[in-house]
Amino acid sequence: MKFSGQKKIGLFPMGVDDLHVHTRLSYDGKGEAEDYVKALLAHGGNRVGFSEHFDYDLFLQGEDVLPDLNEYTKVVNGLKERFPQVKILKGIELGFSSAAAPFYRELCKRENFDYVILSVHTVGNRGDCYYPEFFKGLKKEEAYGMYLSAVLESVTSGVEADIVGHIGYVARYAPYADRALRYCDFKELFDKIFDEMLARGLCMEINSSGYSPLNGGNGAGSADGGKNDGGFADGGNGADAGSATLPPVDIIEEFAARGGKFTCGSDSHTVLSYTKSLTTFPSLLSSLKLK
Ligand SMILES: [Zn+2]
Ligand SMILES: [Zn+2]
Repeated sequence: MKFSGQKKIGLFPMGVDDLHVHTRLSYDGKGEAEDYVKALLAHGGNRVGFSEHFDYDLFLQGEDVLPDLNEYTKVVNGLKERFPQVKILKGIELGFSSAAAPFYRELCKRENFDYVILSVHTVGNRGDCYYPEFFKGLKKEEAYGMYLSAVLESVTSGVEADIVGHIGYVARYAPYADRALRYCDFKELFDKIFDEMLARGLCMEINSSGYSPLNGGNGAGSADGGKNDGGFADGGNGADAGSATLPPVDIIEEFAARGGKFTCGSDSHTVLSYTKSLTTFPSLLSSLKLK
């Protein structure tokens, strides 16, 4: 059954609920889910969406990264009982590859996720675009074009997702002097991605892992990001990233102009990062000046 993020979880454009949160159940996350909920309550919030990694793309390459879904369900159900005043959502972040897509199509039918984030981390046979090796011998246009083609493939793959995760991930660790990803440089690919997303009711995630209000919103990064995610692993390489958010603002605006819907995600991998994002989200959203 296809479920729409908007209908199922009551999202609305520019909702401030954080739907991209990893705990220790993700191979690169830390902290107990319970401690995230306690942080949310201390902040006065009442809704959180966990999105543990499910990277079958990496699993197919021999990496031991899959979460224990039974334990995940048990943890979330236990928290729902203990904290009935909090709406706790059991989401998942699927790391797309064409080889993993058939498995994901089955997984989404089999498992009862509240929502699905579809993210591109690995591109073709060049591996995760987090690593410098990915870019070896590639011009910026080639590397980014390959990445965006993979995003397009992911949204047309038949995997029943609700949200496209951190579009622009490729730019975050790219080795180019100007590594900004711009709509105008890949207009044709972006237009195709937008059309397919709109046709399927897919939300675009505004991933805040590069946002820090202390330095004008472009740099140090609020998230501690896992190696496989949008966030800055070392919190230190964002100064010239060209964007505080993934995707960059010009891409968000183009999608908004077409009537696209958005969700928010901090991509936190620790309770500390999650706690920070609870206070920075509102300023991030108002800085975007979107309706
Ligand atoms: Zn990710
Ligand atoms: Zn993530």
